[in-house]
Amino acid sequence: MRQSSLVVVANRLPIDDSVAPDGACEWRRSPGGLVTALHPLLRHTPATWVGWAGGTGPAPRLPDVDRVRMQTVALTAEDLRDHYEGFANSTLWPLYHDAVEQPEYHRRWWEAYQRVNRRFAEATAEVAEQGAAVWVQDYHLQLVPGVLRELRPDLRIGFFLHVPFPPPELFMQLPRRAELLRGMLGADLIGFQRAQAAHNFAQLVAKVLELPATDRRISVGERVVRVGAFPVSIDTAGMAALADRPDVAARARRLRQDLGDPDHVILSVDRMDYTKGIEQRLKAYSELLASGHVKVRDTVLVQVAVPSRERVTQYQILRDRVEREVGRINGEFGRVGEPAIHYLTQPFDRAELAALYRIADVMAVTPLRDGMNLVAKEYVAARVDDTGALLLSEFAGAAAELPQAYLVNPHDLEGLKQGLLSALHADPEDVTPRMRAMRGHLHRNDIRAWARSYLSALDEGGSLLTHITATG
Ligand code: UDP
Repeated sequence: MRQSSLVVVANRLPIDDSVAPDGACEWRRSPGGLVTALHPLLRHTPATWVGWAGGTGPAPRLPDVDRVRMQTVALTAEDLRDHYEGFANSTLWPLYHDAVEQPEYHRRWWEAYQRVNRRFAEATAEVAEQGAAVWVQDYHLQLVPGVLRELRPDLRIGFFLHVPFPPPELFMQLPRRAELLRGMLGADLIGFQRAQAAHNFAQLVAKVLELPATDRRISVGERVVRVGAFPVSIDTAGMAALADRPDVAARARRLRQDLGDPDHVILSVDRMDYTKGIEQRLKAYSELLASGHVKVRDTVLVQVAVPSRERVTQYQILRDRVEREVGRINGEFGRVGEPAIHYLTQPFDRAELAALYRIADVMAVTPLRDGMNLVAKEYVAARVDDTGALLLSEFAGAAAELPQAYLVNPHDLEGLKQGLLSALHADPEDVTPRMRAMRGHLHRNDIRAWARSYLSALDEGGSLLTHITATG
């Protein structure tokens, strides 16, 4: 077994299963922030990625992708149902997103969560060389640090949560709350998107486990676990360069023509998820059409909503409701050849997204709760001419970093309508400095800066960082 000095552990491998078996490897991005987030770093750092390849058969052997080794973890159909769709996406996901949908608790799901986390930890223990740095990602794998520490006390273990971490009143609902916190505390460094999440975690550890805890340091016996906020970012320069490409600019012109050359284009790009506030946004838009504040003749809304987790009932129900509402709005307000909403469920590749970002005078990103929201950052990065207004929910992690956006509370329908109108009619003299400030922030705080700051905190003076700086 080949071993690595850096091991990333995530639920999914960073490839599509359609690409891997024939050996024709290339990096593929799926709708979901993590793969996009780590891609620029791992291309250049000899490492192993431990994850699931998709499918429920035996674990396939996969060739390296660029210089990254793929270590596959097999999941059965039962694991998929009870771990991934169950505990991860029907218990933790809604609980961590303000319980905007009711979290479900089932003992069988918890058993699967433990079993699958153990399997990931064992696979990691096999591929990590003595003293290696291991970076465990996200809510699917919160028990991995604890199990891994028992198996391999020599490792330096990091854990990063991409989603929000809820306030104690919510987290306390979780039947196995103590075990879950203990699992995370197996790490040397626990990273969150926002300082508030680190604070919530420290409070819970003090309350549930009665350990001495501040927002930065938690004592677990002899060990000190460090805690902090490390807001994830994007490949800002990469997105800017893409948006600037002549073919993307041409594609953008064509798209705008196809939309009927409207005065204003509003764009939203979401995974179809109840956390994204799609229904609230549609309601606000529909009321603006009804009151005549927005006219189909001169304004179009492009809503990209890529279906996800389609075997989970709440997602099926949401999709049905969204599609009924889009149909109603188009029926009521559209004209022949001029729909009020251009509704698209196909996943777009990065170049096509960049073209869409370029034509969006207003980008409406209004989740009810979101760990970060990379789409908001990508939009800013793509606005190379410093035009465009970002309408952003206060409840997206990105809002903490982008105060120059037009911030809204998506639960407040009137506020949402007002925000949308302000963004639509904003003076260029107001829009440009805001966009310039946000772009500057994202160029300084891009994905490499994120990885560097997290890994240097994890590594504490080790050699890992020099490697990344030299090649990044
Ligand atoms: N994305 C994509 N194609 C699409 C829609 C989205 O590649 O058709 C990408 C998008 O560029 C972004 C990611 O999917 O990088 C979504 O990340 P975000 O943080 O916004 O939301 P998540 O899906 O992780 O909740």
